[in-house]
Amino acid sequence: MAGTSDKQIDPQMEVQFLKGVGPARAQAFSKLGVEKAADLLEYYPRNWEFAPEIIKIRDITPNVQVTIGGVIESIDFIAHRRPKRLEVYLADETGMCRVIWFNGGYLLKQLEVGMSMIAWGKVGVYKNHLQLTNPKFRIVGNIPQTGDELGGAIYPASGDLSTGQISKIIKPVISELADGVDEFFDKTYLRERNLIARKDAFKMIHLAKDDEQVRQAKRRLKYNEFFLMQAALAVRRYKVQHFLKADAMKTSDEIDSRIRRRFPFLLTEDQDNVINEIVEDMGRDRPMNRLLQGDVGSGKTVVALYAALLAIANKGQVAIMAPTEILANQHFISIERFLKNSKVKRAVITGGLNGEKRKQLLEKIENGEIDIVVGTVALLQQDIKFKNLSLVVIDEQHKFGVGQRATLRKDHSPHCLVMTATPIPRTLAMTAFGDLDVSIIKHKPPGRGKVITRRADKQHREAAFDFIRERLKAGRQAFFVYPRISNIEDDDRIKAAVDEYDQLSKIHFKDFKVGLLHGQMKSKDKEQAMEDFRRGRLNVLVSTVVIEVGVDVPNATIMVIEGADRFGLAQLHQLRGRIGRGQSQSYCFLFSETENEVAMDRLEVMVRSNDGFEIAEQDLRLRGPGEMFSTRQHGLPDLKIANIIDDFELLAMTRRDAFKVIESDPMLKNPGNRNIRNELIKKFEGKIDLVDVG
Ligand code: ADP
Ligand code: MG
Repeated sequence: MAGTSDKQIDPQMEVQFLKGVGPARAQAFSKLGVEKAADLLEYYPRNWEFAPEIIKIRDITPNVQVTIGGVIESIDFIAHRRPKRLEVYLADETGMCRVIWFNGGYLLKQLEVGMSMIAWGKVGVYKNHLQLTNPKFRIVGNIPQTGDELGGAIYPASGDLSTGQISKIIKPVISELADGVDEFFDKTYLRERNLIARKDAFKMIHLAKDDEQVRQAKRRLKYNEFFLMQAALAVRRYKVQHFLKADAMKTSDEIDSRIRRRFPFLLTEDQDNVINEIVEDMGRDRPMNRLLQGDVGSGKTVVALYAALLAIANKGQVAIMAPTEILANQHFISIERFLKNSKVKRAVITGGLNGEKRKQLLEKIENGEIDIVVGTVALLQQDIKFKNLSLVVIDEQHKFGVGQRATLRKDHSPHCLVMTATPIPRTLAMTAFGDLDVSIIKHKPPGRGKVITRRADKQHREAAFDFIRERLKAGRQAFFVYPRISNIEDDDRIKAAVDEYDQLSKIHFKDFKVGLLHGQMKSKDKEQAMEDFRRGRLNVLVSTVVIEVGVDVPNATIMVIEGADRFGLAQLHQLRGRIGRGQSQSYCFLFSETENEVAMDRLEVMVRSNDGFEIAEQDLRLRGPGEMFSTRQHGLPDLKIANIIDDFELLAMTRRDAFKVIESDPMLKNPGNRNIRNELIKKFEGKIDLVDVG
């Protein structure tokens, strides 16, 4: 390729060899994740600024946005007035305009008399003269005729590489790089969805001349990003459905009624629906891969037990995994309750089980003499061998970790049911869990009282306490929950359990029995406090979030949460789930002195809604995705330009499109889909198992 000009750019070339880069800047680029020339395509601007047409100084009028260009006639830093200001006079051939920047001392280094400057901002009037105040500006060699080449992309910069430098490097090469990218879709497909060509999108995102171009470019690039992610999920799902084998679990009216006889109540409509879905899944000779969501107390365990008994009726074994040993024991106890006098053989594996006993149990499991094994995920992932493991139930409780999904084997995989009490917003159901089937239990079993939630601040405290004392006298019990155990640094704006326990027991509730419970107490004392409260020997239990899990006291109908704005909404919802367990009306008081609007809005959501899904959705909207919802955490690559919350509509549409494409061409073998396949492999290799594609 001798004699070629810099017109030919190999996309795989290191950025170092691009014009204006060199080793030092290449290193700076590397820190920004850019190694090769092609990486620049996806080094997206973080913002765009478009300056309007340049007008003559003579023509400017007050109160409009203008862009003017002129030569700097004078520069003054006026430091003796408040606020200090930098005053510049800018002249073109039609007149002179004063331009000021408050506290603009830092600009002295950049500006010199005689330089040409473009400045844009709103025209104001000061002492009868027009002036620009705090405008945006750029120093230029020559004043251009239009504002076009002024504005444009603003890149995320670093200390070593300014946005201007990045822009100067990208602009000359981007069109050629973009011309080299492959299109995923044909013209009709794009037209139907109002999408521009892929290469145009890459050009426009970097070289946009106005907001509309930015919008169109973004839409297409977001679509790409979502499409690849959804296609990867669709492939993963297809694989599970078509390559993995599982034992089909047969059912009959007899089996069904035998299982139902175990429950001392009728199943709710939601439970029945979910069970139908599960029975259908397990009836196929490929593994079930289902996520079951429902608030604490919505009756998930019962559903899981139904599935377990179905597997056992088919001579299979069942493993039930909980996140902690306490929860594993709880599961075991509730299962015992239903299986009393049944022939089903069940066991719980705990960390305390050692030596000969453990060995014996493992042997029994291996020989198929145990039907249901309950344990923590860690314990059950050890060297335990099953004779015929047919169903794995994973209770994730408050997490969404997909990492713990059962390891699937090609020849013979167990059916898998993942349960979570944390409502998963639709956005996540479409991304992190996008390859699972999802079931939801929305309504709790009957006979639960409603919870009325109120927001309260200092001035409501006495009235609230009066009300609570009345309820306590009537025999009810109350939780007081604090964000902290004790006060650090004398910061008494944040109430803490230990200090308030003093106040409550000695002053406000001195006629009642008040107990204390927090995480730093000895296990024995914790157990005692819980037990006393459970048995009604305490009227009030002052605590931290330790009560979040597992306390079941139907007579407790009041909950006071102090510093409520310090808790996450999901957590508040879990806490509130501790009351409203009996028949009678329950009350939750959210105390907070916050004046932060977002915080107040979030608490308002709690007042308005008892629906865990709505709460999770709103929380996500108010707080943004954050760590918990980052796609990377769920094994998917991070999104560079799309956002699962802001772009939800596009995500939903793209998901339908991608699943349709994979459905009709699962291996992406059609020539028309070749570019999608190549890109998928490039992007997802090693992250998502794309076996058999490519
Ligand atoms: P989860 O696992 O979702 O937290 P559980 O399955 O433990 O919920 O159910 C919570 C409580 O409700 C348990 O005491 C359970 O026995 C009871 N329960 C479950 N289903 C029903 C039902 N259909 N009718 C009445 N009580 C039910
Ligand atoms: Mg449960």
